[in-house]
Amino acid sequence: MLAPAKPDDKRTQLHTERSPDVADERFDGLTRLARRHFSVAVTLIVRVDAEQQWLASCDGIPFAQTPRVLSFCEQATDSDDLLVVPDILADNCLHDHPHAIHPPCIRFYAGCPLRTSNGETLGAFCLLDTTPRELDDGQRECLRDFARLATAIVERDDVVARLKEDEDALREREKRMALAIAGSGTGIWDRNIPTNEIHYSEGWKAILGYADWELTNQINDSYKRVHPDDLAYVQATIQAHFDQKTPSYEVEHRIRCKDGSYKWISSRGKVVSRDSEGKPLRMIGTTTDITAMRAMSERLQETVDLITSLTNEVPGLVFQYRLLPNGESFFSYASAGIKDIYEITPEQVATSAAVINEIVHLDDLAAYRASLEVSAATLMPWHLEYRVQLPGQGLRWRQGDAQPRRLEDGSTLWHGFITDVTERKRIEVELKEFATIDFMTQLPNRRYFMVQIEAELARIQRAKEGFAAILMCDLDHFKSINDTWGHAVGDRALRHFATILRGQLGEKDIAGRVGGEEFAVVLPDADITEARAFAERLQQRIVEASLVEGDRRIALTVSIGIAVMNAADASADAPLSRSDTALYRAKERGRNRIECH
Ligand code: GH3
Ligand code: MG
Ligand code: MG
Repeated sequence: MLAPAKPDDKRTQLHTERSPDVADERFDGLTRLARRHFSVAVTLIVRVDAEQQWLASCDGIPFAQTPRVLSFCEQATDSDDLLVVPDILADNCLHDHPHAIHPPCIRFYAGCPLRTSNGETLGAFCLLDTTPRELDDGQRECLRDFARLATAIVERDDVVARLKEDEDALREREKRMALAIAGSGTGIWDRNIPTNEIHYSEGWKAILGYADWELTNQINDSYKRVHPDDLAYVQATIQAHFDQKTPSYEVEHRIRCKDGSYKWISSRGKVVSRDSEGKPLRMIGTTTDITAMRAMSERLQETVDLITSLTNEVPGLVFQYRLLPNGESFFSYASAGIKDIYEITPEQVATSAAVINEIVHLDDLAAYRASLEVSAATLMPWHLEYRVQLPGQGLRWRQGDAQPRRLEDGSTLWHGFITDVTERKRIEVELKEFATIDFMTQLPNRRYFMVQIEAELARIQRAKEGFAAILMCDLDHFKSINDTWGHAVGDRALRHFATILRGQLGEKDIAGRVGGEEFAVVLPDADITEARAFAERLQQRIVEASLVEGDRRIALTVSIGIAVMNAADASADAPLSRSDTALYRAKERGRNRIECH
């Protein structure tokens, strides 16, 4: 039954150092009492845990000898109930135990396990004697009682230790929270509503620059510190929460500091108890200094205001335009200039830009869409000049420029502006006219006429079978008109002829002033016969619509040379020179004539 100490068993590694609870007077009292009660040589309380076995108390034997004796107790700690060995020397297993044969020559052993209500083994309460003996039922029950008392002491210590651990943890948490609250610049308040008292944390007072011992705890004094402009709002918000209209109280307002300055604070709180009728009894909350945040948001607002007024003051439309992957698009920002540019409001395009399709001129709509598509696909800047048709302004020119950027969701976002370029477009047209139209006669000048005749030749060459008649017209004896009537009248004569010529032109016909008093005409698809008929009509008209100066009629005639331009011509110069040759012949043969090449 009782085994000698097993040195390789972890638990049997005895503690020769006194454990803290060895010195426990309560255990020592129990062992003293038990030794006297049972009249044994030694009483021990042995403790075990998963790791080791140690002596909690002993009575009747010098401490130095006890570790060896402990080896008896191992079986007792693991047994279910009392273990009693009346005579060790008579015991089959223990008769040669060294502690029985040699001092302290133990002959009797009884041990009762210390077992908790949930079955955990804490150790054993042991009786040892140097003479064999028995335990009657009463003594056995008594030993169990001693064991129960020892167990109760250990269990109680455990509970106390656990409580202390919990308390330490709680205190630690509290400390951390207090530090966190102090660090965050948050103050705490606790208001007793029926008594009109309010308690502020040290941190709360610190926000306002007060020391912990300053400030009263009267709610009426608190209200005096609220900025007069904010007081009504603050009180109404509190009342709404008292009346259970809001789930919590939350308000931002100004509050007067100790030095008289005002700070912006954010207060949040909640009624935590109410009486049976729902009247609030206690409200707890926090206060945070948001002065810096307010200042920052005010600065931010100023920046936003500045940008908004800048974009609104700039002539034209400043915009942020977004095209979603599903093809929908909208103006996430449009400056006030959209009123001039498109005669709509920013709101009308805030969720969909579809209305723009009805504003862009029908002839430019395809180009408008394509240009945005290309910009979205290549992320190259968007640039387009296009026309819009507006109910108020009518037909106007717009120029758009924007920088695209791809967003994470695949959208394309443009930042850019659209300006009114109608006036510039008008000037451009005018400039183009200056460069292409002869000012005096309003006919294409020589250079522009050459461009047009080359274009006509290219058309003929593309069509292969095509042709056009070229007429070269030169006013007869023009020098003498100048000489006779003066240069100004000569000019009038030139304009007069140009007007008649223009009146003869069909829709596709081209005419130009190619020299001082020389004019060239291209009649697309016309052959020599048709060209001759045209020339004859022209001469006829000049005779009919004669130029009158004062009461005198100025005789004006024209010589005309005709040639045909066809696909074989390498350039327009060849047919022009052929018609020139014909013209030369007309002059030679008497003027006011038509000659064909
Ligand atoms: P012809 O019948 O052989 O063509 O005789 P012409 O006098 O018409 O021809 P010529 O080439 O000798 O003279 C042309 C004149 O046209 C000379 C020039 O002063 C005049 N002329 C050229 N340009 C202008 C112009 O813009 N205004 C005026 N008033 N005269 C011009
Ligand atoms: Mg002439
Ligand atoms: Mg001439």
